Amino acid sequence: MLILEVAVLKILPDVYQLTIRGANIILIAEQELTIIDTSFRGSLPGIDSFISHLGRSVSEVSLIIITHNHLDHVGGLPELEMITSAKVAVHKADLAETEEQLPYPGFVRKILHVPPITLFRPLVYARPSEVSIQLEGGEVLSPLGGLEVIHTPGHTPGSISLFSAREKLLIVGDTLNNRRSNLRLPPKLISSDLSQAIASLKRLAQLDFDTLCFGHGRPIIGGASARVRELLEKQGDKLT
Ligand SMILES: [Zn+2]
Repeated sequence: MLILEVAVLKILPDVYQLTIRGANIILIAEQELTIIDTSFRGSLPGIDSFISHLGRSVSEVSLIIITHNHLDHVGGLPELEMITSAKVAVHKADLAETEEQLPYPGFVRKILHVPPITLFRPLVYARPSEVSIQLEGGEVLSPLGGLEVIHTPGHTPGSISLFSAREKLLIVGDTLNNRRSNLRLPPKLISSDLSQAIASLKRLAQLDFDTLCFGHGRPIIGGASARVRELLEKQGDKLT
């Protein structure tokens, strides 16, 4: 289904993946509307048009969860905050008062100031004052019969994954990468700490889930925890 350049995939009866400019947004359309990640700046019309297609209104969105504070996940947040009264949940280790504190490796931070990437400026990121729920990991949020926040640092210090035991659904943001359907750890160059990423993978491999959704790329539907355990085995002796 293609609405205003939004590719939509139905993941579960109440869960949709919207892909806008290569970044995924997860929409949970229960009695309450929840959005996980917001893609780049300018994503609001696409999100709005799909929610309208469901016969609902984007202004109903009551919870926005950000998997990590990178511009392709948090870019649409200010637009959504203007037209909803949603609570916004971000892990506290990813919040930044200034661009210098943003969770990008140093060289990426430099590149963000070089044309044409400066076209993204002003950089969009979540500041502590804009976030109503500063996560630490271990919280259980209300969607999908209980959506557990799992702190999975590595790509960024405050990256989180979200797990619904009832739906056997795991949403990992960029904690794992499935571009071109090749499951792997996040690229080292744009990650803060790969040894933490491996430790996070180890935590995720202990969970029981069928469906796995990513910040980029297609979801794995069916048998997903086995795929994650395979990836962990491939990491082998890197684990301590
Ligand atoms: Zn990222």
